[in-house]
Order: sequence, then structure tokens, then C-alpha cells
Amino acid sequence: MAVDLHVHSSASDGTDAPDLVVAKAAAFGLTALALTDHDTLSGIPEALAAAARFPIELIPGVELSVDHAGAKIHMLAYFLEPTSGPLQDRLEGLRTGRSIRNLRIVERLNELGYSITMEDVLRHAAGDAVGRPHIADALVEAGAIENRSEAFAGLLSDGGSAYVERDRLTAIDAITLATESGGVTSIAHPLTINTDAANLRSILEDLRDHGLAGIEAHYSEYPPPIRTQLAAVAADLGLVATGGSDYHGLGKPDLQIGSGLGDLVVPDAALEELRHRRP
Ligand code: AMP
Ligand code: ZN
Ligand code: FE
Ligand code: FE
Repeated sequence: MAVDLHVHSSASDGTDAPDLVVAKAAAFGLTALALTDHDTLSGIPEALAAAARFPIELIPGVELSVDHAGAKIHMLAYFLEPTSGPLQDRLEGLRTGRSIRNLRIVERLNELGYSITMEDVLRHAAGDAVGRPHIADALVEAGAIENRSEAFAGLLSDGGSAYVERDRLTAIDAITLATESGGVTSIAHPLTINTDAANLRSILEDLRDHGLAGIEAHYSEYPPPIRTQLAAVAADLGLVATGGSDYHGLGKPDLQIGSGLGDLVVPDAALEELRHRRP
């Protein structure tokens, strides 16, 4: 039996509504699914209601963009009540930071000759966490690019000509806030951290010592031997090897819930180990 602990819905930059994501996960036969939208829990109530109609467990989660000594990290937090709490209460501020950044990106694009507006961007967003994927959608609609990936390979990439930084939590603050909120954390797609292998290991040790529970070893876009290697690193460091597809619906059209690119299997044990780390 398998789970998927990294899935996005239209509450952030996925294209399927939360209830559809749950229905797809149940149809695939997953025992559990974590909805991990960027900076928002607004899809969780709908997902929980949908999960009550299927033999599947819905884990409320969120994906945060954090910073640790200059390294950019995506942090998944799980088991968060979608009401209030120390981490929950910070999310609105993070979304405000997104709005400010989105406006600055649109301004940059206008200076570069792409005449899109914030209204164009918001038409592509169904939820309250708006970001670069929706700006990319507006550029596609304007005929400037073919798809989201083209935006992330050029204009909107880190260091791209329309790239703008945004405020992030520190990784340690994110772990602390998640723990105070009854949650546990895992580092998403750990190999996208902009650092070398030795430093990655020391970052993981450091964050583990601050309460980090896991790393996403079973990541859909990593080849199976890399997943195995990362699971060994997790075991070595006393971290849980979590995993997920990073499903975004049509936002990443090759990825499916549960199976990723076709060969992903995240064992139920990953979720059970994570559950044991709850504070
Ligand atoms: P933002 O959250 O606004 O900084 O936008 C970054 C998000 O865009 C990432 O977290 C991914 O979910 C998504 N993303 C990154 N690369 C791609 C891509 N090539 N195609 C589609 N979505 C992407
Ligand atoms: Zn995303
Ligand atoms: Fe991510
Ligand atoms: Fe993600």
C-alpha cells in the first residue's frame, strides 16, 4: 500500500480542486494523501470533506519556502489543524509577501515589454496563494511563452530577468512554528537546495538538531537510485524518508498522483514514522 505526501491543488498553484485531488488519490488506491499547498491551508476543509467519502486518510499540510544560511529550501509541514496556531497564523503574512512580489514581477515584465496585468494573473488563480506559476499562465495566455516550464527555464527562473526575491521564514523558525503547532516537518526535494553534498549533509544535521523530522527521499522527479541513496542518508541521520509526487495537475502535466512519473512508490511506513514524530 502506498501514500503520497506532496500534492498541490487549486488552493495554490495546482489546477485540480482539492476534492478532485482526493478523488484521484482514492481512485489510484492510496491509503493516505497529504495536501501540501504553498503557504495556505485553505484547501484543507474541502479535502477533508472529500476524504470522508472515500477509504483514504487526508493529512493536512503546507509547503513553505524557507532560507537557511543563504540556502533556499522548501519545507513540508504535516498534521496542521486548518484553524489557528503559531504556524497557521503566519501564513497570511507569507501570502501578503507573495502579493507584493507578484506585483513587482509584473512591473519587471512590463518593463521588459510583456504587457500583462495583475488582473490577468489573478484570473488563473482559484485560491489565495498566488505565485510565479500563475504569472506564467498569464504569459502563456498572452502568447509570450508556450507553458509554465518555459517561464521557469527563463524569465521567472531564479536569477531570470523578471525574477524578484520574496520574504521567507528561516528554516529554523519554520520548524519551531510547525512543532509549536503540533506538526512535523520534512525537507521537500532536498537536492534542489543550492549547495554541495557535504554542506547539504551539515544543513540536514543542523536542522535535525532543531527538530526537523524527515527529508523527501522518495521524490517523483528523482531516479530510483537517487531515492535509495537519499533514504540511506535519512536513515543515517535519524530522519524519516518521506516522499511524494509534487502533483500540480496540468501545472506539471507529466506527474500523476501516487505514481509520479510512473515509478514512484511511497510506502505507508513513511507516514507511520512521521506520525510517531508528532510532538
Ligand atoms: P513561487 O512559489 O511563486 O516562487 O513559484 C515556484 C513554484 O512554481 C514551485 O514551488 C513549483 O511548485 C512551481 N514550479 C517550479 N518549476 C516549475 C515548472 N517547470 N513547471 C511548473 N511549475 C513549476
Ligand atoms: Zn507549486
Ligand atoms: Fe517545492
Ligand atoms: Fe511542491
